[in-house]
Amino acid sequence: MRRLVVLGAGTAGTMVVNKLRRRLGPDWRISVVEQHDRQHYQPGYLFLPFGACQPDDLTRPTERFIPAGVDLVQGEIDMVDPGQHVVRLVDGRELGYEYLVIATGTEPRPDQTPGMLDGTEWRESVHEFYTLDGALALRDRLRTFTGGRLVVHVVEMPIKCPVAPLEFAFLADDFFRKAGIRDRVELVYATPLAGAFTKPIASQELARMLDDRQIALEPDFVVERIDDERRTLVSYDEREVPFDLLVTVPLNMGAEYVARSGLGDELNYVPVDKHTLLSTSYDSIFAVGDASNIPASKAGSVAHFSVEVFVDNFVQHVNGQKMTGSFDGHANCYVEAGDGKALLIDFNYDTEPLRGRYPLPGVGPFHLLEATRVNHWGKLAFRWTYWHLLLPGRPIPLPAHMSMAGKVRDYQEV
Ligand SMILES: Cc1cc2nc3c(=O)[nH]c(=O)nc-3n(C[C@H](O)[C@H](O)[C@H](O)COP(=O)(O)OP(=O)(O)OC[C@H]3O[C@@H](n4cnc5c(N)ncnc54)[C@H](O)[C@@H]3O)c2cc1C
Repeated sequence: MRRLVVLGAGTAGTMVVNKLRRRLGPDWRISVVEQHDRQHYQPGYLFLPFGACQPDDLTRPTERFIPAGVDLVQGEIDMVDPGQHVVRLVDGRELGYEYLVIATGTEPRPDQTPGMLDGTEWRESVHEFYTLDGALALRDRLRTFTGGRLVVHVVEMPIKCPVAPLEFAFLADDFFRKAGIRDRVELVYATPLAGAFTKPIASQELARMLDDRQIALEPDFVVERIDDERRTLVSYDEREVPFDLLVTVPLNMGAEYVARSGLGDELNYVPVDKHTLLSTSYDSIFAVGDASNIPASKAGSVAHFSVEVFVDNFVQHVNGQKMTGSFDGHANCYVEAGDGKALLIDFNYDTEPLRGRYPLPGVGPFHLLEATRVNHWGKLAFRWTYWHLLLPGRPIPLPAHMSMAGKVRDYQEV
C-alpha cells in the first residue's frame, strides 16, 4: 500500500482528502489527523459579535466531511520526523507516511504580546474575534458597551483574512449607528502597515472608507506591549494608543509542532515553492492552506484555488512525473462595508485588486472594489457554498487562476 497522511482537517485538509480520495487508486491508504471534533466556518466569527449569526451556524462535526476510504485519526500532532517519515501524536501513536500534506493552518497567539493574555484585561477590555470563544465574549461585551474609545488593532502581518479587522471596524460603525450611540463612540484603526491595506489601490479605497466613517487610521503602529493598567497600546517607537475597548488581532502563527519538527520559519510556516506547494526541503512533504509560507493572503479562497492546482500536481509528483500546474496566488475576498453592502477584491501574486466585474466580465454580478448589496449577499451565501461544495471538494465554477477579463486598470466605470 502507498501511504498519504494529511495533517489537519480544516478547510484545506478536508478539501485535499475529498479530492485526492477520488483521484488516487485503492492502492493508496489515506489518513487525516485532526485534534478537534468540529469543523469551523471561521468567516462567520466576524458576524457573531454583532449578533448577525449564531454559534450553531458556524460548526459541524468534522467526521461528516471525511469521505469513505479515508481514516480520520482524532488526536493532537506532537511532531513529524521527516527523516524517518513518521508523524507522532501526543498520545504516543505513530503514523508512517510516504507522502505528507501539512494543512494545520495558523492560529492567533495572544501569549506573544506582553500584557495581552497575561494582563488583567484579557476578555475584559481586551478582546479578539479570531476564535469562536473570543467572538462570543466580544458579543457579550458589545451588548453592554455604551460609548468610549474602541480601537481595532492588528499586531503583525500576515494574519488570516487580512481584511477581517477592517470589516470589523466598518461593521462596528454600522452597529453603533443603528444603536443610536455612534456619536458616543470614537473608532480607531491601528495597523502595522503603512496604510489601510497592503495593496496600493485597495489601500487607497479602504482608507477613504475609514475616513468617510470617521474611523481614525493609526498606520505604522507596531505594538510592543499592552499597558493594562492604563488600557494603552504601546508601540516600539513609543507611541501610545489608549482604549476603553480593544479589539485586537493577535500575532498569527503556524502550529507549534511545525517548529518542534524543524519544518517551519520564524512564524512556524512551512517554506514551500509558491507555485507547487512542495516543501523546499523535503520531496515528500507539501503544505497547503494557511500553514505554508506562500506570499498570498491566508484565506479560504486561496486554500480553495491552490488545492485545485495542487491535486493535479500531487498525482503527477507521486507518479514520478514533472508537476505542470503553477499556482498564481489567486485570492478573492468579500469585504463587509456595513449598511448591508460589501466590496469584493480579486488578485494574485502579481496583480493587485482592481475595479471591474466578477466572475463574468462586464456582467458580474459582483462588483470589484465597489460596495454593493449583491456583494454582501455573495458573502452571506458563501457559508452554504462552504459546507456543501467547498469542503466536500465538489466543483465550483470559478477558475483557479486569476483572470484579467472584466478588470480595469484605472478608476473608470466598466
Ligand atoms: C475572523 C475570520 C474571518 C475570515 N474570513 C474569511 C473570508 O471572508 N474569506 C476567506 O477566504 N477566508 C476567511 N478567513 C480565513 C479562513 O478561515 C482560513 O484561511 C482557512 O480556514 C484556512 O484553512 P486551513 O485548512 O489552512 O486552516 P484551518 O481551517 O484553520 O484548519 C487547520 C486545522 O488543523 C488542525 N490542527 C492544528 N494544529 C494541530 C495539531 N497539532 N494536531 C492536530 N490538528 C491540528 C486545527 O484543529 C484545524 O482544524 C477568515 C478567518 C477568520 C479567523
